Order: sequence, then C-alpha cells, then structure tokens
Amino acid sequence: MDCVFCQIIAGKIATDFLYQDARIVAFRDINPAAPTHILIVPKKHFQSLADLPEDKMAITGHMVKIATKLARQGGIAESGFRLVINSGKEGGQVVPHLHMHLLGGRRLTNGMG
Ligand code: AMP
Ligand code: ZN
Repeated sequence: MDCVFCQIIAGKIATDFLYQDARIVAFRDINPAAPTHILIVPKKHFQSLADLPEDKMAITGHMVKIATKLARQGGIAESGFRLVINSGKEGGQVVPHLHMHLLGGRRLTNGMG
C-alpha cells in the first residue's frame, strides 16, 4: 500500500480526522493554501474523478454535503468557501487518490487556471 491517503485512512499515518463515516474521512491539508484547508477523501481508493465508475458517482454528492457541513462548522459558510477536485496531471492532481479540497478563511484568489 503506497498510497499516502490509503495509509492515513488505515491509521498508518497519525492524523486527526475532523469527520469520518463509513464512506469518507476529512482531515487538514498538510500544506494549507488558505486558513481553512481540509481534504474530504473517500475511504475506498479511486485514483481520480476520471477513474470513478458511474455507479459510484454518488460519493461526490456526499463529499460536497460533508464539505459544506465542515464549512459551516468552521464558520466560513457565510463568508464564503471553495470546493476543488483536481483530476489528473493537467488538472493539478498530485496525490492519486480521489479527494476534494475545502478552502476558505480569506478572500480566495481567482486561480481557475
Ligand atoms: P492535489 O494536488 O489535488 O492532489 O492535492 C493533494 C493535497 O494533499 C496537497 O494539497 C497536499 O498538501 C496534501 N497532502 C499530501 N500529503 C498529505 C498528508 N500526509 N496529510 C495531509 N495532506 C497531505
Ligand atoms: Zn489510496
């Protein structure tokens, strides 16, 4: 198992989970790009959004729901936040395990590519 997020999910790398259920976990990004930077990660390993089978797409809705809940809990639901899923090399994905970024806590720059 050489996937860093699979190791985190398996408890092999000590990490504080801000949220977890049967399907996903959430933890702070090790290299935060904003005051709030949380990763929402399916427990099951899918390499990327492009690798997620159509019959498993519902997990993304669950990720959005929990990310929004975490934004509310973190007090940034009103001020504003951004959800990002990078998919593949040119999409800027570095860790090849599907994940969503929750970013906020300051006015975000318009880094849309
Ligand atoms: P991406 O570029 O979308 O693949 O994002 C991967 C993110 O994972 C980056 O923002 C990294 O800072 C973050 N990351 C990598 N390793 C860890 C780790 N061990 N714990 C928390 N976040 C990590
Ligand atoms: Zn993995």
